[in-house]
Order: sequence, then structure tokens, then C-alpha cells
Amino acid sequence: MMKTALGMDIGGTKIRGAIVSEDGSLLDIKEIPTEARFGGEHVLTQLKALIDQLMHKEICGIGIGTAGQVNLNGEILSATDTFPNWSGIALQKRLEIGYQLPVRVVNDVQAMALGELHFGEGKMVKDFICLALGTGVGGAVVAEGKLIRGSNGAAGEIGHMTIREGGRKCPCGKKGCLEAYASGSALLDLYKERTSVSKTGPEIFNSALNGELNAHTIINEYISNLVTGIASLAAIFNPTKVILGGGVADALDVYLAGINTEVKQKVSDAAGLNLTIVKSKINGGIIPLGAASLVF
Ligand SMILES: [Zn+2]
Repeated sequence: MMKTALGMDIGGTKIRGAIVSEDGSLLDIKEIPTEARFGGEHVLTQLKALIDQLMHKEICGIGIGTAGQVNLNGEILSATDTFPNWSGIALQKRLEIGYQLPVRVVNDVQAMALGELHFGEGKMVKDFICLALGTGVGGAVVAEGKLIRGSNGAAGEIGHMTIREGGRKCPCGKKGCLEAYASGSALLDLYKERTSVSKTGPEIFNSALNGELNAHTIINEYISNLVTGIASLAAIFNPTKVILGGGVADALDVYLAGINTEVKQKVSDAAGLNLTIVKSKINGGIIPLGAASLVF
């Protein structure tokens, strides 16, 4: 019989959980609000409630992809202000004790990368990079078929790569990070600063397509900054693919060909030869899939 595991995705607004079979089928998906503002212990309670809904006796383990940085023992190292007291929670250990099953925990974009590696865009390639363009900018690097976790689990924090010394302030407290230019929030902030009008991401993209000059300029700058980030990554890792995910990636569809061209112009021939920038195809389920792959 094929093995099944639980794959959980702990995000800022909701926790998504799935029963995943070894061949990458999502057998059941359920969601519960994260309610992160009530603190880390509350998030853990929500997580357990969702696990209990999905759990059955054939489950061989629980894999988790969560917001925040996770060390190699499955403890939360740090998280953004939207996740108070999530940092410090020994998630892996507490769930292992509670459920008497193998539990593995990684950062959510690292789980996305594992999902792509085993079941998605990364299946046929050994070297690729995932970039999650949402409220923030998350990243994960797969090199020679292996997810790079680093000495403390925090490798691939691509959003906090400096692309402009002394540049815009990043939520992490530093200045000039890629996230300060290439996140969905950065896009909204830039638009508001320039026009004094608040628009949502999809509205800004629509305005640009309808020929509004401000929106058009801001999207072009956004893409140019994203390209700068991708070009640096290409120079370091020589990946075959850069896989874009997250809310902004959907809106970038019409710009994808242009992004590919711009990146190729910025990198060496060797770095650009095999490189394509693509969009993740398994929306919604990729993090649970990758998380579950940790316990198969
Ligand atoms: Zn930063």
C-alpha cells in the first residue's frame, strides 16, 4: 500500500493541511485560520486542531512548512512581527511527543522547493531556486538535487540579500534588501508614495496594463529590481530554473518573457545558457506536498 503523510503549511492568515500520498497526490485538503496575532501557543493549538481533523491511523508522519526561520532541530528561530512569540517554539519536538510520529519542520519556502523538487517544476532539474513573492520575499535554493539548509537552517533568505546599499527600509530592520523592492508590500508602498493613492497589487497591475503611467513605471522598476536579484543568484548558483511563487507571481505572467530576456542580458553566457524563469504550477498545494516529502 502507498504511504500517506500529513503536509502542513503555516502561513500568515491560514494554516493549510493535506493528506499526501507518496506519489504526490493531494488526497484531502483542509484549512483553519492561523490567528497568529494571538501568539505562538495559539498557532500551535490551531495547528493541532487541523492535524486532528486530518489524522488517521495510516499516516506515517507529519511534515511542516512554516513562516519564519527554522533551525535543523525543527525549532522556530525567528519570525516576523505578525507572528508574535512564534520564535522559540520547539515545534518538531512538541508534535513528536504529542502524536508519537516522525515530524519534520522547515521554512515554508524551503518546503515549496522540496515540493517542486519531488513533484513540480524541479522534478527534471537538479539546480533551481524558488522565490516566493508575497507580502515578503522568501527564497530557497536547491543545488545538485539537494535543498541547501545552511549551518542553522536559515539558508536561502534571498529576500534579505542587499541589492542597494543604504536603500529602502526592509521589515527586517536593514536597508536595501531585495524584499524592500520586490515584495508585494513594497509594490503597494511605492505606488502610495508616488501617487498618494492606495491600490491593491492586482489593481496596480491592471492599471499598468491599461496604460496608467505611474503604475507602468512602478511595475517596470519592480521588475528591474527583481531581475537584479535573480541575476545575482544566477551568478552564484548557476541554476537551470528560477521558480516564482506567491501572490505576485500570478500577476507577473504577462511579464515573464521580458524578465527572462532582461536576466539573460545581465548574467554571463555560462550562467544564462540553461536558465529559465518560470512560474510555479502547483498553486496552493506545493508547500503541503514538499513538507510531506520530508517524512516519506
Ligand atoms: Zn531585509
